[in-house]
Amino acid sequence: MSIAIALPEGMRTRNRPTLPEALLRAGSPRESSNPYHNALEQLDIAAQYLELDPGMHEILKHPQRELTVHFPVKREDGSTQVFTGYRVQHNIARGPSKGGIRYSPLTDIDEVRALAMWMTWKCAIVNIPFGGAKGGVVCDPKTLSNSELERLTRRYASEISIVIGPTSDIPAPDMGTNAQTMAWIMDTYSMTQGHTVPAVVTGKPVAVGGSEGRNDATGRGIVFITREAIRESGLDLRGLRVAIQGFGNVGGVAARLFAEAGAKVVAVSDANGGLYNADGLDIAALRDCTNRDGTLTTHGGGDTIGTRELLELDVDVLVPAATENQITAENADRIKAPIIIEGANGPTTPAADRMLHERGVFLVPDVLANAGGVVVSYFEWVQDLQFFFWQEEEVNAKMEAIMVRAYRDVRTMAKRENVDMRLAAHLIGVKRVADASTLRGIYP
Ligand code: GLU
Repeated sequence: MSIAIALPEGMRTRNRPTLPEALLRAGSPRESSNPYHNALEQLDIAAQYLELDPGMHEILKHPQRELTVHFPVKREDGSTQVFTGYRVQHNIARGPSKGGIRYSPLTDIDEVRALAMWMTWKCAIVNIPFGGAKGGVVCDPKTLSNSELERLTRRYASEISIVIGPTSDIPAPDMGTNAQTMAWIMDTYSMTQGHTVPAVVTGKPVAVGGSEGRNDATGRGIVFITREAIRESGLDLRGLRVAIQGFGNVGGVAARLFAEAGAKVVAVSDANGGLYNADGLDIAALRDCTNRDGTLTTHGGGDTIGTRELLELDVDVLVPAATENQITAENADRIKAPIIIEGANGPTTPAADRMLHERGVFLVPDVLANAGGVVVSYFEWVQDLQFFFWQEEEVNAKMEAIMVRAYRDVRTMAKRENVDMRLAAHLIGVKRVADASTLRGIYP
């Protein structure tokens, strides 16, 4: 069987497999909870489809650099605890590597590898001049005091200072880290240089060289992408029923902006559980509740639901914005939302992807949907390098233009190749990175 396809410019045409053949050759998906296995499987499918040179495929499978550090931190009780951290640079063919730093008790080298690889594709898909990287520290920030967090962050920053820098690798916030974390990293790095280097990290507070609009950027990008995705079904944000898993910097901000745009956010959840209200939840009240109690579940404004239950609600749009492996082969058939916009990185396994695609669920993948954050990180880096700062309206408008354009590029590819949005996004991202690598050639 073959699918009639118009080939994008520059793609090789001989013996090119159809999508089903490419999937077959990539092997049937082994349901894995290891995000790196899943990222490699996604790459395999894109590589098969692109008929990528095997040598190039091999290069892209491997992170270029991986640094593991073990470092001591003095605890409040006077004891010393050794923590483990990572910084992985997946690829730098298109520019300095870029990506967040995650503080989580569950992180490990394979998670960081996967997240770094996804950053490479993400930056290429939105066409900003960065490669991909990610960092992580195995710790539970909720159990650390503010000064312990500062000591941990400064020592980790010092340990990875041999691989980061404003022209080499630029960290940003991710799960468990925030603008304050970035301020400490910027300060620590600057101390070793003898002068302030704001462009070494993004997602900093505005007062120390951060960008207007960076804090809300990922959530704002999610709303732009949702607007583009529902437009085709003749829907509009007004009255749209949305369920959001996660209430942090991605889910929480998206919830607020969805509500501001007139959508009905009927369900949200945090790590402790979720709330459902068919008439729409009061997002501002939930935010106050979270600030006060550390969780939204103590707010009485809706029925209590489980975080997994939230995924199966009958809504117009589902936004998984918590963590990896939430939509798997186990629950994919029970997802009722016709549209999924991935706020988190890696919330859907490859096996679940296939099941959703077969059922006609329209999924906008992480590497496109949540790219608003890194796009504004790019703007922050540019502003820092120029010491010239923009107004928030300008930041938001420029980000919107990039997101809408990337959405349309991916949508066009998906239609032309008759593939799902994840593969379409990966075809664009992987090809851009492979082309840059080919042009640069292999050193020496
Ligand atoms: N951690 C975010 C992401 O996964 C942002 C990365 C950045 O701004 O560098 O995209």
